[in-house]
Amino acid sequence: MIVGILKEIKKEENRVAMTPAGVEVMVHAGHTLLVEKNAGAGSGFADEAYVEAGATIVATPAEIYAKSDMVMHVKEPQASEYGMIRPGQIVFTYLHLAADEPQTQALIKSGAVCIAYETIQKADGSLPLLTPMSEVAGRMAIQQGAKYLEMAQGGNGVLLGGVPGVDPGTVVVIGGGVVGTHAARMACGLGAKVYILDMSLDRLRHLSEVMPSNCFPLMSSPATVRKLLREADVVVGAVLVTGAKAPKLVTRDMLKTMKKGAVMVDVAIDQGGCFETSKATTHTDPTFVVDGVVHYCVANMPGAVAKTSTPALTNATLPYALTIANKGWKRAMQDSCEIAKGANVIDGKITFKGVAEAFGLNY
Ligand code: NAD
Repeated sequence: MIVGILKEIKKEENRVAMTPAGVEVMVHAGHTLLVEKNAGAGSGFADEAYVEAGATIVATPAEIYAKSDMVMHVKEPQASEYGMIRPGQIVFTYLHLAADEPQTQALIKSGAVCIAYETIQKADGSLPLLTPMSEVAGRMAIQQGAKYLEMAQGGNGVLLGGVPGVDPGTVVVIGGGVVGTHAARMACGLGAKVYILDMSLDRLRHLSEVMPSNCFPLMSSPATVRKLLREADVVVGAVLVTGAKAPKLVTRDMLKTMKKGAVMVDVAIDQGGCFETSKATTHTDPTFVVDGVVHYCVANMPGAVAKTSTPALTNATLPYALTIANKGWKRAMQDSCEIAKGANVIDGKITFKGVAEAFGLNY
């Protein structure tokens, strides 16, 4: 199969869909890899590294779309690309169609086979192509929280780990899934006092067993959230209710009870955010202040640490890309329920229930 790796054109997106190491594996399996010029630059991969791995560098996205059986991106195709997608071509990337009607209509019109990273699902319900980016965002949440606690950044001037003879800071992580666990581990590693809240008792039992002794897993309830907010230096929003907008667990009223200069990092902002006062921000202007509390609400956190995020993404996507390229999309979907769940739009028809329901379209 001819596989095209496109350069990301969405604002502040430095990742690329495949590392040179991934390209080498695909080429070794007999596929032809086309990589758009400078596609890897933001992730630290020069065109020469792709050529060494066996790829051909191609000057424009139009050429990639014209020549490839399958194109791969990180973010969804942008409006300037819609007209380049060919009928029958496989588009394999994050799509997030349920929140994007113009893109959904464009992909229906294209007649392409659109497989979304985010809906590929394992038998246990986990989403293997979302997990690595949640790991990155969770770890980064504490790095951002610690940075914005500094006084010059508007924070309250607490060093999360404290020092001998001085108390550490307090971190409250709401949601004990992938993001929450990685955030809590980072905060524990710095030496902070860490609370992690979840609604699932089974999850809390697991966290009690595996987390360090400076981490306290607690059942999430409005009363517990209210109590811990008074103490918190950093609050991380990390909840997910599958298929729904994030619940607003910290209301505007509660901010008044918090310390001035405390930092709230709403990682769940891509699902609407779990703090009432959250609104999406960007890496160039990541924070704003409400009632003296600093809010960090960047919706594409992993894009800022592309040298980590790109290899993490390739580690997860490569086995699926290889299977689709080896078998073709039809056989790959017949043989793998995981890949079949990734099908969102095929030959002009929506094939994913959640997307069809979002726009009242036929499924
Ligand atoms: P996950 O499913 O692994 O974990 C979510 C957890 O939230 C679950 O354990 C669930 O039991 C818990 N939960 C649900 N309701 C709760 C409540 N009321 N109180 C406490 N806990 C509750 O999900 P994840 O992979 O950790 O992702 C979390 C969020 O982060 C998602 O919205 C995801 O899209 C988002 N995310 C954002 C970025 C970014 O760049 N901003 C990057 C990656 C992930």
